[in-house]
Amino acid sequence: MRLQSFGAACTVTGSMHLLTLDGWRVLVDCGLFQGSEDLEARNHEAFSFDPADLDAVVLTHAHLDHVGRLPLLVQRGYRGPVYCTPPTAALAETVLLDSARLQVDGYRHALRHARREGREDEVAPPLYEEHDVHNALALLRPVLRFGEPAAVAGLRVTPQRAGHILGSVSLVFESSGGRLILSGDLGNRESGLQPDFTPPPEADAVVLETTYANRSHRAWPGTLAEFSEVLRASVRAGGKILIPSFAIERAQTILHTLKGLMDSGEVPRIPVFLDSPMAARATHAYFEYGDELIPAVRDALHAGEDPFRPSTLHVVLTGDESRRLNRYDGPAIILAGNGMLTGGRIQHHLRHHLWKTGTSVIIVSYQSPGSLGGQLVAGAERVQLMGEDLAVRAQVHTIGGFSAHADQDDLLAFLSTAGTPHVWLVHGEVEVMNAFVPVLGAHGLKGDLVPDRQPVELLGGGFRGAHPLGLVRAGPDPKRPAGTEE
Ligand SMILES: [Zn+2]
Repeated sequence: MRLQSFGAACTVTGSMHLLTLDGWRVLVDCGLFQGSEDLEARNHEAFSFDPADLDAVVLTHAHLDHVGRLPLLVQRGYRGPVYCTPPTAALAETVLLDSARLQVDGYRHALRHARREGREDEVAPPLYEEHDVHNALALLRPVLRFGEPAAVAGLRVTPQRAGHILGSVSLVFESSGGRLILSGDLGNRESGLQPDFTPPPEADAVVLETTYANRSHRAWPGTLAEFSEVLRASVRAGGKILIPSFAIERAQTILHTLKGLMDSGEVPRIPVFLDSPMAARATHAYFEYGDELIPAVRDALHAGEDPFRPSTLHVVLTGDESRRLNRYDGPAIILAGNGMLTGGRIQHHLRHHLWKTGTSVIIVSYQSPGSLGGQLVAGAERVQLMGEDLAVRAQVHTIGGFSAHADQDDLLAFLSTAGTPHVWLVHGEVEVMNAFVPVLGAHGLKGDLVPDRQPVELLGGGFRGAHPLGLVRAGPDPKRPAGTEE
């Protein structure tokens, strides 16, 4: 039972785990690194293995940091099956096509500027383009169903509901060496759309995500009350209400929640603009696979209603329509991407409204410190945006409870049915994982961090690589670019 992680090892992004079980080589997830320039530089590196040698690929869910390098894997020689659930296949198409478009646009933009300086040779080409995405999509095998064992290469794998986003799964692998569980990203058990994850069976080893292993989320009723109160205050303030939002899961959660609050009369029925073609496309998958969501959504769908459509919703598709919203008078809620405020249509809305006193910005997702979103959350009075220095006169509200990731209690609940497995930690910051190891110890579990790119024997064998875990942070690995340790 060997694991070698080429992403989401000692970091939260770029998930890519190579399993060798009973001689079969299975890659779980093939995600893009997102975040700092140093991390994103790793997307351009060669794979540390020959893609053609893999027996199978399995996707846990369709977030870009779990599927975003799949077109690259195919471009570099992988031709085998890519197993996933049907909703993951639907969402992966939306996510990967958007990713290709962003990369090509980014490349053209960089090239235009570099030409003026005579440096066009220095611009890296896009990682992949639309035709690479179609080649990858052609390999998808959307045959995984919750709780039903499937044959992946020569292995028996049971996907189980992970409750993170639509179609997300944990994977239970059976091998001659024992039972292994890869948690995938696990959901917050207090979620506005997802039912809870399925408790896993007893296992010999668990590879566990740890994004929020040091946190405790607010309970859902509290989050709902807080969101409702902030919306009412924002409506009273009289200006635009901007909600930066990710296109997958968060946008649908916000739409469903807004519909509920407006239908019950808790929040006035002001216009809601969904200014994100990608979120609109993703919502089709939520509609199609709504039976996998919480009972309130299922019931609404069966009654012929659209649970993601507040009665005042307008979907904004073109860039021109989006810019015309700047001239729209009166209160309105605008949902736009991207959720991190690092690009996308939310930027021009912020530029037009951040300096006005009646404006409200409601932050519903994590913002990294120092980023534009992080500065707003921290109460900055001025920010730089699109080359301008803007006064922040808007009210900025932060609602933390919409997280799609498990908190510490959720992670411990997940492990509580798994017996006494060796727990291997991935998809977390090193500080968070180091703090979680003693918590596991207090629950009678042995926890270890999965090192970056070093192979580990999951059952008792320790490390095959030259670096024991403690060195991952202490000493720079010559193969590891500087700055990726955060
Ligand atoms: Zn995810």
